[in-house]
Amino acid sequence: MDIRKIYEDAKALLNGHFILSSGNHSPNYLQSAKVLEDPKTAELLATELAKIIKEAGVEVDRVCAPALGGIIAGYELARALGVNSIFVERKEGRMQLRRGFEVKRGEKFIICEDIITTGGSAMEAAEIIENLGGEVVAFAALANRGFCKRYGTDKEPKRECKLPKDKPLFALEDFEFEIYSPNNCPLCKDGSIAIKPGSRDS
Ligand code: ZN
Repeated sequence: MDIRKIYEDAKALLNGHFILSSGNHSPNYLQSAKVLEDPKTAELLATELAKIIKEAGVEVDRVCAPALGGIIAGYELARALGVNSIFVERKEGRMQLRRGFEVKRGEKFIICEDIITTGGSAMEAAEIIENLGGEVVAFAALANRGFCKRYGTDKEPKRECKLPKDKPLFALEDFEFEIYSPNNCPLCKDGSIAIKPGSRDS
């Protein structure tokens, strides 16, 4: 499956001049919500992700996603794995489990995101699940921004990656982009104006 082409066709993989949520500039941007706009594509991607997880022999009781970005990916992954899906959400700056969702002691979870950058939100979700007695056995994302090590590849994680080294990250593709600091950006030097494509931060 050509994951990159699916992202391009859905206009989820953008080329231009962008301001990332880190404040840095890049000629590429991944607008993950766009690839999930068509439920058929979401289902296709999640089915492929579930296949990799099953083939690795990882069994989970439930999926947990950090809101908002991870909800659709997590829900579709849960469907493909044949398990239930819950999500944690940020309230007053802190990630919490709300809406009557519960975690049973010893229940095995996979934390699912649409995209893993450094894995910060995924780790916050994992902490909540483990504090409530659940066991996080793996992480999953449709796309990996290349900071963390994707299962099945031998690339070492970068120091920015917050995910634990002893748990696999299942993802469909690595999307590693050129990143420039705003005052040393060749695109800015060429006179182009960086735009903020819009994400959870804007
Ligand atoms: Zn720039």
